[in-house]
Amino acid sequence: MASIETIAVIGAGTMGHGIAQVAAANGFSVLLSDVDREALARGVQSIEKNLAKGISLGKLTDHERDRTLQQIRGTTKFEDCANADLIIEAAPEKLDLKREILRQLESLTDRSFIFASNTSSLSISEIARSAKRPEAVVGMHFFNPVHIMRLVEIVVGEKTSDETVETVTAAGRRMRKEPIVVKDVPGFASSRLGVALGLEAMRMVEQGVASARDIDTAMELGYNHPMGPLKLTDLVGLDVRLSIAEYLHRELGSETFRPPEVLRRLVSEGKLGKKTGQGFYDWSKENEDLRRAQSS
Ligand code: NAD
Repeated sequence: MASIETIAVIGAGTMGHGIAQVAAANGFSVLLSDVDREALARGVQSIEKNLAKGISLGKLTDHERDRTLQQIRGTTKFEDCANADLIIEAAPEKLDLKREILRQLESLTDRSFIFASNTSSLSISEIARSAKRPEAVVGMHFFNPVHIMRLVEIVVGEKTSDETVETVTAAGRRMRKEPIVVKDVPGFASSRLGVALGLEAMRMVEQGVASARDIDTAMELGYNHPMGPLKLTDLVGLDVRLSIAEYLHRELGSETFRPPEVLRRLVSEGKLGKKTGQGFYDWSKENEDLRRAQSS
């Protein structure tokens, strides 16, 4: 098993900054990179905000915050990343982009490194298709928000070696995540089950079985889910859910994943969930309260 000391995270957005934070908090030396200087600055600010919240909740000391921040270096120089032992790619969900990032990294160094993609839906085998070392390409699928969610799915491509799986599993554990190992199939384990539940809940709304709130309550109180499937859909974004459902429907050929009419209609009306103020729930008051609290 290779020893991992340095981790480069490519992309400092929603996922990248969180991955950098948990890696740094657990002793890895971290390089956080982004092509966009402002996105990088926003990523670092988000880490600082998360750490400040941890302190205010009594979960973190000032010393731990300082140590975490000291472990992270931000860069817009892509070439710096090629020196890391493990490179975690959290760039936008585009196959060509992810392949191109891997190709560029391979052209920058002859050192062996592990390339782990945080893709939530693309095939790891496809990302690795033209790689020089496909055995070192793997999925590390973290969940949002990364510093809170405990799961990481280790996605094993056709050519991923056992050694690579062992190495990233150990790195995931060191980041205090619970790794599960999953074959490279559409939706992996988590999205396939989670999306199936969400789509069935939407069909139940369409059929008037119960209100969105009552369907969510059924899962929260009856099955101990921390959040019902419709509220979760509102937080993830209805547009995001629709594109994943379309992808799973196409790839798995199962009617379970055919997007319900209510989902298509809400998306076409621009009701995308919390980010637009309306989805299966009305978030406008909550969003307004949040804006007021932030500006005061
Ligand atoms: P995001 O748009 O928030 O962040 C992507 C960042 O990558 C941006 O800051 C962008 O400037 C940067 N970027 C673009 N091209 C780059 C390049 N060539 N080199 C370096 N940086 C580059 O995206 P996100 O939501 O963090 O998603 C990133 C990946 O994680 C995607 O593959 C997504 O499917 C996956 N994912 C997302 C979530 C989620 O809830 N958002 C959950 C799990 C997995």
